[in-house]
Amino acid sequence: MKYPKKSRSLRRIARRTPGGRNVIHLEPRKAGKAHCAQCKHTLNGIHNYGAKSEKKTARPFGGYLCSACMRKVFVGQARGKHV
Ligand SMILES: [Zn+2]
Repeated sequence: MKYPKKSRSLRRIARRTPGGRNVIHLEPRKAGKAHCAQCKHTLNGIHNYGAKSEKKTARPFGGYLCSACMRKVFVGQARGKHV
């Protein structure tokens, strides 16, 4: 079977054609979901596609920390702790 070159920038998908041949199709890789930088949970309200405004929420640390971790940072700053 003819096999594509070594680069892994595209993902390989095995497909059987209507003629019965097994071929490898190349498709773009899918982006993963964004995770909170502190607790590693997946972020809500975030798309992994589209414009920059779709990839973050409209608040400080939007698209970087979840709301609970953002709150912890602000409470820590108000109490004078370095986070
Ligand atoms: Zn978090």
